[in-house]
Amino acid sequence: MAWVYEFSQGNKDQKDLLGGKGANLAEMTTLGLPVPPGFTISTETCRAYLAEGGEPEGLAEEVSAHLASLEEAMDKRLGDADDPLLVSVRSGAKFSMPGMMETVLNVGLNDTSVGGLAARSEDERFALDSYRRLLQMFGGTVLDVDSELFSEALDEAKRARGSESDLDLDADDLRALVETFKAIIKEQTGRDFPQEPREQLDLAIRAVFDSWNTDRARLYRRQERIPEDLGTAVNVQAMVFGNFGMDSGSGVAFTRDPASGEQGVYGDYLQNAQGEDVVAGIRNTVSLADMSDIDKTSYDDLMGIMTRLERHYRDMCDIEFTVERGKLWMLQTRVGKRTPEAAFRIAVHMVDEGLIQMDEAVLRVTGDQLALLMFPRFDDSAERTLLAKGMNASPGAAVGKAVFDSDTAVEWAARGDDVILVRKETNPDDLRGMVAARGILTSRGGKTSHAAVVARGMGRTCVCGAESLDVDARAKEFRVRDGVTVSEGDVISIDGSTGEVFAGAVPVSDSVVVRHFEGEKLDDDLAHAVARIMAHADGARRLRVRTNADTPEDAARARRFGAQGIGLCRTEHMFLGERRELVEKLIVAEDAAGVEEALAALLPLQREDFTGILEAMDGLPVTIRLLDPPLHEFLPDLTELSVEVALAEERGEVDERAATLLTHVRRLHEQNPMLGLRGVRLGIQIPGLFLMQARAMAEAAADRLAAHGTPRPEIMVPLVASVRELEIVRTAIERVIAEVEEARGVTLDIAIGTMIELPRAAFLADRIAKAADFFSFGTNDLTQMAWGFSRDDVESSFFSRYFEHGIFDVSPFESLDQRGVGGMVEMGTTKGRETKPDLKVGVCGEHGGDPLSVHFFDRVGLTYVSCSPFRVPVARLEAGRSVL
Ligand code: ADP
Ligand code: MG
Ligand code: MG
Repeated sequence: MAWVYEFSQGNKDQKDLLGGKGANLAEMTTLGLPVPPGFTISTETCRAYLAEGGEPEGLAEEVSAHLASLEEAMDKRLGDADDPLLVSVRSGAKFSMPGMMETVLNVGLNDTSVGGLAARSEDERFALDSYRRLLQMFGGTVLDVDSELFSEALDEAKRARGSESDLDLDADDLRALVETFKAIIKEQTGRDFPQEPREQLDLAIRAVFDSWNTDRARLYRRQERIPEDLGTAVNVQAMVFGNFGMDSGSGVAFTRDPASGEQGVYGDYLQNAQGEDVVAGIRNTVSLADMSDIDKTSYDDLMGIMTRLERHYRDMCDIEFTVERGKLWMLQTRVGKRTPEAAFRIAVHMVDEGLIQMDEAVLRVTGDQLALLMFPRFDDSAERTLLAKGMNASPGAAVGKAVFDSDTAVEWAARGDDVILVRKETNPDDLRGMVAARGILTSRGGKTSHAAVVARGMGRTCVCGAESLDVDARAKEFRVRDGVTVSEGDVISIDGSTGEVFAGAVPVSDSVVVRHFEGEKLDDDLAHAVARIMAHADGARRLRVRTNADTPEDAARARRFGAQGIGLCRTEHMFLGERRELVEKLIVAEDAAGVEEALAALLPLQREDFTGILEAMDGLPVTIRLLDPPLHEFLPDLTELSVEVALAEERGEVDERAATLLTHVRRLHEQNPMLGLRGVRLGIQIPGLFLMQARAMAEAAADRLAAHGTPRPEIMVPLVASVRELEIVRTAIERVIAEVEEARGVTLDIAIGTMIELPRAAFLADRIAKAADFFSFGTNDLTQMAWGFSRDDVESSFFSRYFEHGIFDVSPFESLDQRGVGGMVEMGTTKGRETKPDLKVGVCGEHGGDPLSVHFFDRVGLTYVSCSPFRVPVARLEAGRSVL
């Protein structure tokens, strides 16, 4: 097994081995595109390096052999004194991690070869510019010198020249800068910059390996759910030079607009520039369209290649290229990142262009993207004060307090403030702040700048390159041209879809996607794209999608969003508000008659609740859960009530009601209410309560029948652990239903099922199925009971440690713990169907709307998932994607 591969040996499907960059460089090489030659050191090598703490055996020899053939192909030797071969050393993992890891350009230059390069190119300024770049990049990334020191020295040199542009530095300035940079390196590291070319190469390769484990790379991976153990490949490639004068340059491009999905190329170009200059915002770039005026031949070549790449990859690609003295070179391509809006539009456009089929279009969008599209946008009709306009880098409407550094962003967000991170430009160190912020605003850089790329990846709203803003991070403020100043803490609003920046908080309005789901007829390309994708996903999926809804309004909305019934209607909220008093009466009732009376008062109210919901979901199943939480949740707080009673006593007053209530609150108080008197246990301890609910449901169904409706209520018993519990409750409920049928002269078809939310229930599901018409996995409780921790207590306490240690990489409350809790779901389903092969099995709880969990539930053969109304479209889409 080799460690190293020539570009000509690989292809785009070898991302695991060659990393994304390496695999695509290989693909472009095979396609015959102009790619500077080179080789890729595999990700496997990196894994071996990280495991062994050093270069694996045989690597040095392989690098030597491949370097030798590269030298032969280029007819130059690395760092040669007269005519040096220079190379770039580029990181490239399987999944792109923009700006997270290291790349070093111009490796091979030293005090001697810089003269050779100057002589051969007849351009001393160019050679020195290349050398100072090597010192700067090598110093910063390989030798770990604070990169600020270099950029300060560079700024100082520009100031001395009286210029803002690096282009105005002449050969003498650059020669001096080279000396300064070398001195910085010597001073900071205690050793000279390594002059030996091969040593430079080896150190740079090692630095790329090491960069896999920097803090920011780890944070990024956690954020993007990229596995920790992949490692990165290293690409060693012959340099081409975009800093060779004004007929050279460097650029980035997309084959379609990554923000809107609009057809037509999109990109930035910068003359006389190398590498990261384009995205770093050091000078203002020109658009691709303008590049055609500067260098028509290269532009035409580029257009031809972009069309070819898009047809070849059958997807939107992004591209990095360089022009060296009028000759175009391709340095990178990959399937480009895009906003959610662009993802939907591009997928459907490509179907219409005959590039892909509908199945594939559905696979190219995600439920998370759809969820982002359902966020509100700024209200066009509201009054607002425009401060500036930048680029629409990542869509959404974000309102928050302006902050000017990551620390403040993190701190303020942690205390519950919405913040907008405002920077001149962002760099990888700003990642923490970007994660914490609602939105990101920069005054420099285009749609391909660091801020834009990272924000799009995270789904954060971002406006970049708002050039009229003068951002002063030190003073914690930004000034707008006409004299307005926005300071830290002032509220601003940014629109990532238009690039606008407003003073104050602008009101927001519904998204077009939501309006489409609500049934509005819209002439809107995005709405059409979403509609077509949803229709196709619906046609493909097996899994049904229901909603969790407790009110007729929620039920009706979810139905418009495509819900096929209610999977969980909670009844606890129906006992709050004014009804608390009735619950109190029930609890303090002295005798059977008192209990009867309290229940009788609750019955009509409860019946009305159910009638409304059955009407909103007419014709579709409505699963109503009997009362689940501990009763004391409906009573006053123990401490507060004790104080109240004590104070009254002190004043010599006697408040009979409060005193009685206190006795009962004390009686019902529990150390661990989550494990106390709740769920089915309530039904056994206070049978009248469940039976009142069952009666209300049966009567509501009878009322709906009388009104010519089609009620399909299902009664769900929570927290069952033993089949006996369910049998006892079930028998009593059946009796009540029979009474109502008899009294009303109707036949009611009401299924009685149970939640499976205790490990014991999952384990004994075959027995429980004997008494259940259906199962619904309550994965919230099941997760709590399986792990033995309560959601309310642990998420903010020790979870961050658990993430750090990789015990889990996402909260098990957010995405199902497939192995553990999922294992119980699978076992419970299998066992339940051993008893009743046609058993309907659903899931309710947050996981029903989580994409990964939906795929799992589909795989193990559940009948439906149930989730909150806004997640219904997400679940529909993911259920379709799971099949395709
Ligand atoms: P990143 O993964 O951060 O994009 P890259 O490895 O793509 O890092 O390098 C950044 C930039 O450096 C490239 O976009 C390109 O402009 C420049 N670069 C890399 N290799 C070469 C090369 N062989 N010749 C010229 N420029 C290069
Ligand atoms: Mg790149
Ligand atoms: Mg529960």
